[in-house]
Amino acid sequence: MPILALTGSVGSGKAKGSTPHNAPADVILVRDRLINLGFTWVSGAAKGDEKEFIRTIKLFQSICAGSGKLIGDGRIDLKKNTHEWLESENAPRWVKIFNQDGPGWKCTSDFKESNGGYCSSWLYYRLWCAGIIYRALCFFNQIADAPPMWVRECSPTKGGNAIGHASHETGIDMDMRLPLLPPDTNKWDDLGSNGYKNKRFHKSAAIMQLTAIKLAMDTRLVLFNDPDLIKRGLCSKYKNHDQHYHIRIKPASKT
Ligand SMILES: [Zn+2]
Repeated sequence: MPILALTGSVGSGKAKGSTPHNAPADVILVRDRLINLGFTWVSGAAKGDEKEFIRTIKLFQSICAGSGKLIGDGRIDLKKNTHEWLESENAPRWVKIFNQDGPGWKCTSDFKESNGGYCSSWLYYRLWCAGIIYRALCFFNQIADAPPMWVRECSPTKGGNAIGHASHETGIDMDMRLPLLPPDTNKWDDLGSNGYKNKRFHKSAAIMQLTAIKLAMDTRLVLFNDPDLIKRGLCSKYKNHDQHYHIRIKPASKT
């Protein structure tokens, strides 16, 4: 476990009792740990009460809390939850997903990188696992012409407000377009409202995708409106989700 040997609290608010608050050496330790975890934009932070530094602590807290919107108090108290998470081997990292792909998935990268090209390492890692399982399921169930999972917007470059989304602020949400039947297996067209009824929709590939997501991604939410797939327990209904899946993961546990 990486040790973050703080002497007091860091971030928003004031000192409690005789415990130091925002001692310069503590601020540097937190800043360097955040940089090490991929939240690199805090590299210029010199003081613990700087707005962007506190916002980044909130982003980290929101991921750990499993919130799709920015929450948290922006404060690290000695030996409390946020401090423990920063010390955890399994602390969430901030990674780029734009232009990336892996077995069974591909980022379509046809949206603004700055609005959806980044996510937490937890989401990224579980997507890799789901992609591999999806390929295996297609093989064993003899699903021919199964397209990759078409990953679209996750979160903005530094988290925070994502245009066109109610959540997607903290790197734990992801959208996916639907798989299409031949000859369109390399396309991820927006099938619009009632998209799941469209005759181009590759339903058997979608069943394998959602099964893999359920097995590998420890989801809090999978939103998609196809009544057959809802009946199978693979997703649930939510307005405007006829033509894509929205996935939100649960937090990992501290190790
Ligand atoms: Zn979404």
